[in-house]
Amino acid sequence: MAKLKIVKLGDDVLRKTCRPVDKITPRILTLLDDMAETMHAADGVGLAAPQVGVLRRIVVIEVEEGQLIELINPKIIAYSGTQSGSEGCLSVPGKFGNVTRPMHVTVRAMNRHGEIFDITGSELLARALCHELDHLDGKLYIDIATDIESR
Ligand code: ZN
Repeated sequence: MAKLKIVKLGDDVLRKTCRPVDKITPRILTLLDDMAETMHAADGVGLAAPQVGVLRRIVVIEVEEGQLIELINPKIIAYSGTQSGSEGCLSVPGKFGNVTRPMHVTVRAMNRHGEIFDITGSELLARALCHELDHLDGKLYIDIATDIESR
C-alpha cells in the first residue's frame, strides 16, 4: 500500500465529474487500498478518488474505527430527515462549515468483488456518504456551507 498525495482546493480535478468503474481491475483494488491508507494517515473519516487525483467513482469511508466502507459507483437511492452540523474536508484543510444534510441516507454501490450492495447510514455516516458522493460530481461542502471558519 502507498500513501497518496491529497489534492487541495484550487486544483481543477476537484471540480470534475468522475467516470464510473466498469471493471474491477488490480489497479482499482490497489487504489482502494491506497485511499484507505491515505485517509487513515490524514485522520479523515472519508476520501473520494478525485481527492487523490483520480477521476473515478470510488469512495472510502470509516466513521467507526475498523469499519472500513468501500464504495464503487455509489448512488443515493433514498434519504430522509435533516441534520445540521459542522463539516470539514481533507482537501480544504483547517476550515469547517455548517452544512445541512439528510439524517438518513441509503446508498447502492459495488464492492471490491463486483457485488452490488446497499448501505444505510444515519447521523455522521449519512453526512459522510453525502459529502463523499458529492466529490464524485465535483461538488464541495464549501459550496453549500454557512459560517465557514478556520480552526
Ligand atoms: Zn471532502
